[in-house]
Amino acid sequence: MITPRIEINLDKIAHNARILKNLYSSKGIGIMCSTKVVCGDSKIAKVLIDSGIKTLADSRISNIIKIYNAKINAQLVLLRTPLISQAELVVKYADISLNSEISVIKKLSKFAQKYNSIHKIILMVELGDLREGIMPSDLEDTIEEVIAMQGIEITGIGTNLTCFSGIEPDDEKMEQLSLIVKNIREKFNLTLEVVSGGNSANYNWFISTKDVGEINNVRLGESVFMGCEALYSKPIPELFTDAFTLITEVIESKIKPSVPYGTIHKDAFGNIPKFNNRGLIRRAILGVGLQDVLVSGLTPMLDIEILGATSDHVIIDCKNTELKVGNEVKFNLNYGALLAAMTSSYVTKLYV
Ligand SMILES: *Cc1c(COP(=O)(O)O)cnc(C)c1O
Repeated sequence: MITPRIEINLDKIAHNARILKNLYSSKGIGIMCSTKVVCGDSKIAKVLIDSGIKTLADSRISNIIKIYNAKINAQLVLLRTPLISQAELVVKYADISLNSEISVIKKLSKFAQKYNSIHKIILMVELGDLREGIMPSDLEDTIEEVIAMQGIEITGIGTNLTCFSGIEPDDEKMEQLSLIVKNIREKFNLTLEVVSGGNSANYNWFISTKDVGEINNVRLGESVFMGCEALYSKPIPELFTDAFTLITEVIESKIKPSVPYGTIHKDAFGNIPKFNNRGLIRRAILGVGLQDVLVSGLTPMLDIEILGATSDHVIIDCKNTELKVGNEVKFNLNYGALLAAMTSSYVTKLYV
C-alpha cells in the first residue's frame, strides 16, 4: 500500500467527540470542534456532525469554505481573527468569527450590509497569553463602537490561553472572564449568548472547578483528535489517543557504525549533529522526512529509536527489531506531527 500514509480512524474520532460533548455538557458547557489540525477535512467534519457536534471551527477561511462546500450542516466559526483582506469571504462563509480589531469589524459590517446579512462576532479578550484579544480596559469602548455598526451582532465574549505563552486557564482567569461578561451584560444590555473560555487546555480547570461561572463554551481540537488535554498532554479518561497513525516504509536497512566518520560540518539544516557511540548497529532509512511530518513529534510503535531526519529520510536504530526493505513502520503522532502530516500533500490520507 502507498506510503507515507496517515490512517484516520473515524470511529475513534466520533467516540472522542461524543464523550467530550457529554462530559462538558455535564457542567453546562457546549463545545465547538476545531478542524484546523485536519485542514478542514470534510469527511472528518461530517463524522463530528454525525456525533452530535453542532458547531465546527477553523482558523482558516479556506478550510471553512471547504466545509461549507461539502454541504455539512454545521454552524461555522472562524477561529483566527479575520484577515481584513478576507472580510468578504468571512461574511459569506462563516456564521461567526472571533475578533479583536475594530477596523476588521468595520469591514465585516460593510460586507454584511452588502449581502444583507447579520454577521455574528465573538469579541476576544486578552487575559495574559498575549496572542489575540482586546485589553480588558479597552473592551467597553470597543463594544460601544461595534454596537453602532450595522450588520454585526456581538454574540459572545471569548478568551484564548495556553497558545502563544502557555498561560494556564485557571479559576482566576475564568473568574476574570465571567466578571467581564457580567459587567458587559449589565452595562450594554447585551445577552452575550456565547462565553467561550478557551481550548483543550481548559480541561483541568473544567474538571476541578466548583463553579464554571458564566463560561458556557469551549473550542476543542487537540482533545478531540489526540484524546489529550493540552496543558500536560495527559490522556483524557475513556478517549482514544491513537485515532491517527503514520505508516512509513523502509528503503534501506544495513549494519553500519553509530558514529559518522570524517570531518564533521553542519548538516542539511545548519546544525552540527552529535551522536553516541553504540558500536555497530542496524540502521534503517524510512522513506519519509521533514517535508511530510514533524519528525520530532513521532513516537515509534515498535522498540526502535529515531536518530534523526532530513527532508526526505528518517534514520532509525532498529535495536533488536528485524526490519527489511519494504517493511512498514508505524508511528503515533503528537499535535504538531499531525498538523504537518495532514498539511503535507506528500502524505496520503486513508480513512479506516
Ligand atoms: C486552535 C484554536 C482552538 C483549539 O485549540 P485546541 O488546543 O486544539 O483545542 C481554540 N481557539 C482558538 C482561537 C484556536 O486558534
